[in-house]
Amino acid sequence: MNAGTPNNTPTSLQELENTNEFIRRHIGPGQQEISSMLADIGAASLDDLMQQTVPADIRSQGLSVGEAMREEVALAELKALSKQNKIFRSYIGMGYSNTFTPNVILRNVLENPGWYTAYTPYQPEIAQGRLQAILNFQQTTIDLTGLPLASASLLDEATAAAEAMALAKRVSKNKKVNAFFVANDVHPQTKDVLQTRADMFGFELIYGSLEDAASADVFGALLQYPSSTGELVDIRHTISAIQAQKGVVAVATDLLALTLITPPGELGADVALGSAQRFGVPMGYGGPHAAFFATRDEYKRSLPGRIIGVSKDTRGKTALRMALQTREQHIRREKANSNICTAQVLLANMASFYAVYHGPKGLRAIANRVHRFADILALGLTQKGIELMHSTYFDTLTIKVDDQAAIIAKAQTKEMNLRSDISGYVGVALDETTTRTDIADLFDVLLGEGHGLDVADLDNLVMTQESTSIPAALVRSSEYLTHPVFNSYHSETEMLRYIKSLENKDLALNHSMISLGSCTMKLNATAEMIPVTWPEFGQLHPFAPVDQAQGYTKMLNELSDWLIDVTGYDALSMQPNSGAQGEYAGLLAIQRYHQSRGEGHRNVCLIPQSAHGTNPASAQMVSLKVVVVKCDSKGNVDLADLRAKAEDVKDSLSCAMITYPSTHGVYEETAREICDIIHEFGGQVYMDGANMNAQVGITSPGLIGSDVSHLNLHKTFCIPHGGGGPGMGPIGVKSHLAPFLPSHNVIKLKAAGTLDELGNNGAVSAAPWGSASILPISYMYIKMMGSEGLKKATEVAILNANYVAKKLEGHYPILFTGRNDRIAHECIVDLRPLKEASGVTEVDIAKRLNDYGFHAPTMSFPVAGTLMIEPTESEAKVELDRFIDALISIREEIAKVESGEWDATDNPLHNAPHTLADIIDSEWNRAYSREVAAYPSKAVMANKFWPTVNRIDDVFGDRNLICSCPSIESYME
Ligand SMILES: *Cc1c(COP(=O)(O)O)cnc(C)c1O
Repeated sequence: MNAGTPNNTPTSLQELENTNEFIRRHIGPGQQEISSMLADIGAASLDDLMQQTVPADIRSQGLSVGEAMREEVALAELKALSKQNKIFRSYIGMGYSNTFTPNVILRNVLENPGWYTAYTPYQPEIAQGRLQAILNFQQTTIDLTGLPLASASLLDEATAAAEAMALAKRVSKNKKVNAFFVANDVHPQTKDVLQTRADMFGFELIYGSLEDAASADVFGALLQYPSSTGELVDIRHTISAIQAQKGVVAVATDLLALTLITPPGELGADVALGSAQRFGVPMGYGGPHAAFFATRDEYKRSLPGRIIGVSKDTRGKTALRMALQTREQHIRREKANSNICTAQVLLANMASFYAVYHGPKGLRAIANRVHRFADILALGLTQKGIELMHSTYFDTLTIKVDDQAAIIAKAQTKEMNLRSDISGYVGVALDETTTRTDIADLFDVLLGEGHGLDVADLDNLVMTQESTSIPAALVRSSEYLTHPVFNSYHSETEMLRYIKSLENKDLALNHSMISLGSCTMKLNATAEMIPVTWPEFGQLHPFAPVDQAQGYTKMLNELSDWLIDVTGYDALSMQPNSGAQGEYAGLLAIQRYHQSRGEGHRNVCLIPQSAHGTNPASAQMVSLKVVVVKCDSKGNVDLADLRAKAEDVKDSLSCAMITYPSTHGVYEETAREICDIIHEFGGQVYMDGANMNAQVGITSPGLIGSDVSHLNLHKTFCIPHGGGGPGMGPIGVKSHLAPFLPSHNVIKLKAAGTLDELGNNGAVSAAPWGSASILPISYMYIKMMGSEGLKKATEVAILNANYVAKKLEGHYPILFTGRNDRIAHECIVDLRPLKEASGVTEVDIAKRLNDYGFHAPTMSFPVAGTLMIEPTESEAKVELDRFIDALISIREEIAKVESGEWDATDNPLHNAPHTLADIIDSEWNRAYSREVAAYPSKAVMANKFWPTVNRIDDVFGDRNLICSCPSIESYME
């Protein structure tokens, strides 16, 4: 019941309690708005709209995820669950370290919707803040690794290593061989992910010692420095020996160690990669964290993932943007360097702020402290006759023990976890949180009480001896982080204002709706976000014994069960860290299934023309041959073409990848038939689940007949986009594919939904459950919405989209519609005829929307020259109306260009977006007023957003690629 209607009838207690429900707050339009919008589009009810829109043969019976739970109750229950996680002091290491997230970063970045609700910076004029923060991340990577070119983050260290292997294959001049060398002392999970990728590419992995590397005939190699067990070896000669045979050398490394040790770039490495987790990002039971990746300048066109580059705007001012996108999946499709789309921007930003806050001196002090503690620990142990595996180290000791199990057990009684996967040894990795007491406790565990060692005495001894644990040849002499940005913001006040100054440059969901089609920019409710930063979820090591993670286990199981219900599948894997990684994992499962039936030769993947670029890019990663299926003039998959192509390749058909509702935003009537055709020819159906927001509670991939799908939890299930990541892309599968879900070589996994332990299928992520610490977001969402709320969200998402389409149809052509002229949860506005008539481009319109305070919809996907609008259920009618008004007003502006009233270039569309620099320019001599430029509507008057740069020159940026921080002077020009 909406406010405003006096109602004196006493209501039931139940009703009074329900006024507190979350559903009403998640869904933008209230009951009255829903009624009025239904009337506008000519539907009697939401149910009627569903009848008109969704084909009857795929409509489901609804969900069984339970009743909606009030926000405060759901939070309390999850808190109780989280308490079942035991937070032991972790010395496990293996690529994950305890860290202090500086509170100024915790509160103002990680917990701040200004940072976490932004989208990938495809519209750079309204994203200069996070582009700057990512550029700082690249600069940090470049300085610390000693290589000149860095990317804007990858998903985790292990997948970064797999990307390095793929890059090595692309660029190596040793073309004939298909072997890749992996040093023995690399993290086990990295080996697992590499092995999975190598299997599918048909590469042979050769494991060996550093000595073996020199003689291996390979296209590339992966070394780790410091090694997984902590050793510091001068790898210069190993690197040059491999390079002498035309192998490309990648080195996995550690950012904190690099403040003290000679960087891989100076040792001659071609690629350096690793995890930036210990730069202030909680371990979070596995993620999310940013991986870093750096390489030589000459490999820039081969670099996987996004790069932020420096360019200039129309005023010649320095401006940032995503560079070299022609290497990426959305343009090159199956020829792309990788399938990386969503990455780890929010976490990369946190790491870069950590570097900015501590600066080079602060980082070096942290590293020196950690290293000193390692020296003290090593000295005490060796004094007592304990043998260390290595005499060189930065922060990790691998310690010989007589009875490993007894030591591990004793440590656990003291709430400490040690590394335990190397027989005869325990590993102890120290970090910035290590204290004197910790060292004393470690002595107690390793030596037994009464050892008589004193940390201060040992420290005195360490001081008098010269430490050789970092060999002299590996002591870093080069400077790093000398740019002013890393030397200016070390007081909390300065840091707070720096973060805020960047935030102010960016348009996020806390300013206005972001109608990006296919991206589902819905509410990321605060109650969903709060548990993410609870220490009970944040401070667990991914390889902590599972019995210490009961809270996580229960949450993961419950969430998995709900998602299985939502998708209509039988089993699920939480491992993939993004939608595209889900595609990869799903296709892997399909290929392993074919192999299990002696049909491993099936290697053709049918993909409709309209598919998202990650689909063909993922198919390529499992060595599938992509055959493109046509779409008809209505945007539907051309069934005749599908059948013909399936039949044509029938003996080698592996699968088809389809998106439902189609990327054109309609519920195709033929979804079941598509599945039947593919199955008829022995193929499997992969349904891209990015559009699940139009399915939840209404239909499901399982019901429609597909075999496997990924879910973008960062679209449909409320994980915020973080400015380009994190995300989660779990996959659901039918039972026959369940045995082929991703496994993990450190933690034994079962397929969620079944009780079966998985065989060795290989891992697709470093951590067993991917980015576990953001799963509470989706958990809270489902818990607070319940079956009814989730279904209603889908219905209102469809209503909102149809409302927008209805209101715009008199002004712009709507490209595709389905049954009864309805669309699903998004609509495509065709701008091509307008462009033809007026010269105004889709880019002009996108940028002009910034002047009106809006982010542009998805541009030129899936059809060039169009905008795809997805309003989601979370936008109220007032906001939809503001957005519609802006587009209608822009249409009127286009008409003025069309009619010649406005000049073809001297008009506000061509010059959009407008900045304060334009408005205060004393030489304003344009054919339109300043007011038209910057305040084109009443709504803008009330809530103006200023783009901080003018339109950015893409071509200039790609021709003059700079991916490091420009000098401060260049901003002054
Ligand atoms: C977003 C999206 C993807 C890729 O998801 P990521 O998480 O960015 O990797 C794949 N397919 C479609 C249709 C999408 O919209």
